[in-house]
Amino acid sequence: MPRRFDEARLVVASHNTGKVREFGDLLADHRIDVTSAAELGLPEPEETGATFPANAEIKAHAAAAACGLPALADDSGLVVEALGGAPGIRSARWAGPEKDFALAMQRVEDELLNAGAMAHEQGRRAHFAAALALAWPDDHVETFEGAVHGELVWPPRGNRGFGYDPMFVPDGYTITFGEMVPAQKHRISHRADAFRKLVAGCFAA
Ligand code: IMP
Repeated sequence: MPRRFDEARLVVASHNTGKVREFGDLLADHRIDVTSAAELGLPEPEETGATFPANAEIKAHAAAAACGLPALADDSGLVVEALGGAPGIRSARWAGPEKDFALAMQRVEDELLNAGAMAHEQGRRAHFAAALALAWPDDHVETFEGAVHGELVWPPRGNRGFGYDPMFVPDGYTITFGEMVPAQKHRISHRADAFRKLVAGCFAA
C-alpha cells in the first residue's frame, strides 16, 4: 500500500517553469500549499540515474532532505522507438547548454532520416514518458509512471508548451502539443497519467 499524503505543504522539485505550472494546475484541487525548488533556492542535483524513475527519486529525495518538506519531482522525456528510445533520459541534454529545443527537434528529425525511419509505417512513433516521485523527509518515496503515445511531425508546429511539444501529435488528435491549449495538454499528458496514479495511490480518500 502506498503511503498516504496528509501534509499541508509540498515542494515541487523542479526549476522548469513549464513543469511547475503544470503541477500547479494538477494540484489545484487538492488544497495543498505548493512551492517550487526554484522559489526556495534549492540546488539542482545531478541526474545520475539510468531510468526516469531513478532520476525522479534523486530529485525528490534531494529536495525533501534540503528543505524538510515532502517533495514531488518528475523526470520525463521523449522516447522515440526508431531511435532505440533516444533521446529518453537525455531529452534535456539534446537541447545543449542554451536549452535550444529547435536544435534538439532538428536532431531528432535528422536521426530519424539517418535511421531510415520513414521507410516504416511505425517510423515516426514516439511517446513522452514521465516518472513522478513523492519523497518525504524521512526518505520514504512513492514512484509512479505515465506515458502519452503519438507521432512525430515535421516541421514543428505551435508555440504553446515547451521542449519537444511542437513536433508531437498525440494519438487521436491532429494538432501538436505545441498548438494545444495548455489545459487540454495537461489533461492527457504523460505527467497527468502518472499524476492520476499518484492521486489514486497517495491522495485518494
Ligand atoms: P527533465 O527536466 O530532466 O525531466 O527533462 C525533461 C526534458 O524532456 C525536457 O527538458 C523536455 O525537453 C522533454 N520533455 C519532458 N516533458 C515534456 C513535455 O511535456 N513536452 C515537451 N517536452 C518535454
